[in-house]
Amino acid sequence: MTDKAIATQDVGRVYASDSGDIHALRGINIEVGRGQFVALRGRSGSGKTTLLNCLGGLDNPTTGRIWIQGIDISTMDEAARTAWRRERIGFVFQQMGLLSSFSAYENLDVMARLGGLPRGDRRKRILDSLERVDLLDYYDHRPYEMSGGQQQRIAIARALVTSPDLILADEPTSELDSETTHQVLAVLQDFVRKKGTSILLSSHDPIADEYADRIITLRDGQISD
Ligand code: ADP
Ligand code: MG
Repeated sequence: MTDKAIATQDVGRVYASDSGDIHALRGINIEVGRGQFVALRGRSGSGKTTLLNCLGGLDNPTTGRIWIQGIDISTMDEAARTAWRRERIGFVFQQMGLLSSFSAYENLDVMARLGGLPRGDRRKRILDSLERVDLLDYYDHRPYEMSGGQQQRIAIARALVTSPDLILADEPTSELDSETTHQVLAVLQDFVRKKGTSILLSSHDPIADEYADRIITLRDGQISD
């Protein structure tokens, strides 16, 4: 349909609950061009996580359609979708999900392998990613030997290692002080500029707006202007 990084058509997501249906998303129509850094803003409960999970194929919309790089992701079966996600999408979560008994290098290596990077490229790509977040010297450190900000930068390096088409980042800076927040956002912005990757990054912190090309705001599951 389109070669945009993201295109959605009337996406809705309804959760059933004891007290009735919760419309977490309603009639979402967005387009994100390739190479754009988009901040996804909205208060807690506005639907940011639900939208990011649907875009990355971790959750299914109840209604509507989603195209990522022109592919209608509902047409993929589960195995194809998992492979696609590992190869083409970089996720960064608030809870970073680093493996605690693995070094920084090993954490990136796991993702490089899952993402299908050829064996001969992996080492260089891992070291490049660590360098990009300015933590090359920490390649051998385990997460608990690093500060929260350093761990979040490792989580970002891990998301970048496969050179994804699209990075989906869910409140990646919410646990960070403002100086570290600026560092992390600058790394992501630099990556977008140099690699033409697209980023949709949710935040309830206005600092993200300074780094974004565009801001999309959610209110009660709908796009608000
Ligand atoms: P945000 O990330 O902006 O805080 P969420 O996408 O997490 O918003 O939530 C949007 C709405 O959907 C909220 O009302 C939330 O309570 C509800 N919700 C989210 N996940 C679930 C779930 N698994 N089951 C039921 N309701 C949910
Ligand atoms: Mg959320």
